This record gives sequence, C-alpha cells and structure tokens, in this order.
Amino acid sequence: MKIDKLTVRQFKTFLKDRWKIIAGAAVVLILLGLSVIGFMGLESFYRKMQLAQLPVMFLIYIVAAVISAYIYVSIMMGRFGAMDYKKVQGSKVNVKFADVLGIDEVKEEALEIVALLKDHAALKKVGGKIIKGLLMIGPPGCGKTYLAKAIATEAGLPFFSLSGSEFTEIFVGVGAARVRKLFEQARRAAYAHGGAIVFIDELDAIGRGRQFSFLGGQETNSTLNQLLVAMDGLQNEQENVVVICATNSPEETLDPAILRPGRLDRKIYIERPTLKGREDIFKFYLGKVQYDPTIDIGRLARKAVFKTPAEIENIVKEASLICIRDKRDVITYKDTSEAMDRVDLGIKHRKHMTPEERRLVAYHEAGHLITLYLQHPTDDVFKASIISRRGALGVVHHQPREELFTESKEKLLADVKVSMSGYMAEKVKFNMTSSGVASDFHHAMQVAHFMVWRLGMGEKHLGDFTTIPESQLSDQIKLDLNNETERILKTCAAEVEELLTKEIALLDRFAKELLEREELEYDEIDAIFKEFNKSKFSGPSNPAA
Ligand code: ZN
Repeated sequence: MKIDKLTVRQFKTFLKDRWKIIAGAAVVLILLGLSVIGFMGLESFYRKMQLAQLPVMFLIYIVAAVISAYIYVSIMMGRFGAMDYKKVQGSKVNVKFADVLGIDEVKEEALEIVALLKDHAALKKVGGKIIKGLLMIGPPGCGKTYLAKAIATEAGLPFFSLSGSEFTEIFVGVGAARVRKLFEQARRAAYAHGGAIVFIDELDAIGRGRQFSFLGGQETNSTLNQLLVAMDGLQNEQENVVVICATNSPEETLDPAILRPGRLDRKIYIERPTLKGREDIFKFYLGKVQYDPTIDIGRLARKAVFKTPAEIENIVKEASLICIRDKRDVITYKDTSEAMDRVDLGIKHRKHMTPEERRLVAYHEAGHLITLYLQHPTDDVFKASIISRRGALGVVHHQPREELFTESKEKLLADVKVSMSGYMAEKVKFNMTSSGVASDFHHAMQVAHFMVWRLGMGEKHLGDFTTIPESQLSDQIKLDLNNETERILKTCAAEVEELLTKEIALLDRFAKELLEREELEYDEIDAIFKEFNKSKFSGPSNPAA
C-alpha cells in the first residue's frame, strides 16, 4: 500500500499532539508494575492491611484532587488562556454555497478565493500573489459567517473560528496569547491538511484604532499587535493559512495597520439583500415548513424591506410558532404578517380602553391610513391595527415599495402629511384632539426641520445650516428658517384637513372596520378603497390623476 505524504504528516502530527499522554501512560504502567512486585513480596497480614487502607487512601486523594482543581480553576477564572475556539474539518462545517442566500453578488468573489485556495501550489509556481487575508464588511445577520464556512467547505480545509470579543479579557496578555495559540494550531492543521482557514468574527472588537490611554484599551492593543505579527508571520510560511475577518462596523473605524497590503488586502462588501434576494430567502425558509401556497411571497419580500437574512429566518420561525400556538399545520399570510409585527413592534398587548378611546384611536389610525394610501408617492400601506404594542395604541404599517437611497421633496412632504393625519382625523371627526398625537408631531416636525435647515427645501434660504454653529447664525436667518418649517407643517395640515373632510365617508368606513376587526391586512384595505373607486394619487394635490 502506498502511503501518501499527507498521511505521514497526519501521523506525525498525531504523535506530536499526544506524546505527553503516551509518555504519561508509560510512567503510570511502570509504577504500577513495581507496586505489584513489592506487594507480592509482603506477608499476608500486611497485604490485608494494605488492602484495607486502599479505599480510604483513594477517597482522600480524590477529595484533595477536587479541592486543588477547584482552587486552580477559580484562580484562573476558568478561562485563563483556555482556547474554546471551534476547530472543524472543512468537510464537517458543511455549508454549501447554495445555502448562502441573498448575497449572490459576493458569492462570485468568494468562489474566486476558493479557487485560489485550492490551487495554491499552481499559483506559487507562476509566482502569483497569494491571498493571505480577506475582510468581509457588512451589517450583522447578512451571512458573513455562513460565507466563511462555505469557503472552508468548498475548499475542504479545516476551519478555525473565534469571535473578536473572545480575545478581549480583563487580563493583559491573555488575548495576545490566544491569538498566538490560534495561529499555531492553524499552521499545524495546514501542515497536515494542505491548508487551513482562520475566521475571526467581530474584528472590530480587537481591530479598532489602537488607543493609548491609562484607562484601558491596552489589552486590545496588545491583542491587535499580536494579530498583526501573526498575520505577517504567515507571509513567510510555506503553509497555506488564510485569515478571514468579519466586521459590522465601517472599515474606517478599523486600525489602518490591519488593512495594509499583505494583511487583509482583499475586501468583500456584503449588503442587505435586494428584493429578489429577500424573495429567495423567504422561499428557502418557508420551504422548510408547511405553508399556504397562496402566500404572495413577492409581497412578503416587499414588506420586509431592509431586513437581513437572519431577520427573515426569524420571521418565518415566529410565524411557525404562531401557527403551532393556534394548533394549525399550515402557515398562512396572516401568520407571517403577525410574525413581522412581533419582530418589529413586540408582542400584542391589549390595553383596556374605554369605547370612546377606542373610537378615537380607530379614527386616528384611519386618518393615517387614508392619507398614506392616497397621497404617498413611494410607500405602501401593509397593515393597520388598533391593538396596542410597545406603548403605541395603534399603528399603520407602511414600507417603501423598494429601498430608496435618496428622498424627494414630494416624498418628505408626504411623510409630514401622513404624520399630521392622525391629528387631523381626530379634529375633523370629533372637533377635538388627544395626547395621542405627540409622537406624530415629533416626527412631522423633525422631517420639516430637516427639509428646511439641511436640504434647502424652504423658500428663502439655501444650504445646510446645521454646519454652522447656531451662535453664528443671524437671528433673522433662524427666524426665517423656523417660520418656513412651521409653514410646511401648516400647509400639510391644511391639505390633510381638506382631504379627510372630503373623504369623510371613507374615514367612517375604515374606523368602523378597525373597531370591528382590530386589524386590517393589505388585501382588506385595498378592497375597501376599490369599493370607493379610489386608487393611489387621486387626492386633492394631484387633481389631474
Ligand atoms: Zn398617529
């Protein structure tokens, strides 16, 4: 049988790893042998005496061992220098590229790295540059860990993973010792398996710009220094060790030293999934459970704008919990919608309201709903509810139809109008208003202030006035800007008043439906508007449509 080089290497590593155990076992065996020989030579009375003492001695030894172990562990805080990173064989991590969802664009880059890892030898021959470090940057929950695991699986290499926060300890030097140990092990694994991947999550916990203060930060500094030294050490090594780091915070917050050539010189930017990506993710997770085939996954994906894959997984999990609680087998659209509210707004919390209060809240929410549906250029109403959650008495759930990266004046004005419309509905219907409008006003004012002070959307002045310290602005400019802010609020309020007065039948109808059903879903809302022959953009501000 031909023994290949790797098998010999693996055997060598095996012996190297365990020589202490083997030597220890030999010593114990020799001592036991000597003891037996001596024992046989004793007279029978002494032999019995020895045997009689044996259990007591044994107990004493055990108690002593336990006590010293306890003292040792408590002194060392149980974790002193201990390595609890998870080393896994690449084939055992077993995350396929197909399982990495919603980030198709970055998969290609990752595959390129896999190819380079596999083709390490060929690359060296042609004198190509070897990738030593890869940095993944993106918001949490977008599958960075998954991607790193997929790279390890695909390349079939051992995978060492540790989180940055595990390096930061109270004791100076522990973090650095861990880094040293981690890289030492990775190198040995690479020697035995032809390569290894070290994955450090939450790099920002150690890779933040090094600070020099007396109050702390020394520990992170020494850990980071050690990491840099270890990564530079890989440059001259024959072993194929690749370091993959992940961070949630922007790269500017990282120590520039870590991004220098030869360290983490490859970067992969991971974004939140797009509409198409979210659809795929919903399909994937719903595919694992029983769900109603009439669920409009496209709409779910639109509703879940800005959600990460982890959040979507969470929504599907919540939905199946709701389904189980109601003793049904099949997840419906209502379950997913309820699950999304739970994730976003917390669990329903029925407050005891008087009938008058409920009526007021119903009209308030109906006002938001109508204004949003008829006048908002970019947002869709997904749901309206008068069940209180997290302190709010009711809610109209809306989302932009797709991610927007800039906002138009029209959109911002519509935001102000929608915020003012709860107040206006109360005023139009009851000719009185309540304290329920405070957070709406807060939001409306914020938007209007932002438009005038920062975006030049007022009439008289142009520029971002927040760049200048307020003490340096003339009183006249401040007065003008504040007047314009107020004018926006008043104009919007007047337009909403006109709209709701005109649509009072619609307002009554929605309030009635909310009082009866407590929650209205998109379909139900849409059906009522159709009944009234209303579609989007037919409000007073767009008479032509
Ligand atoms: Zn409101």
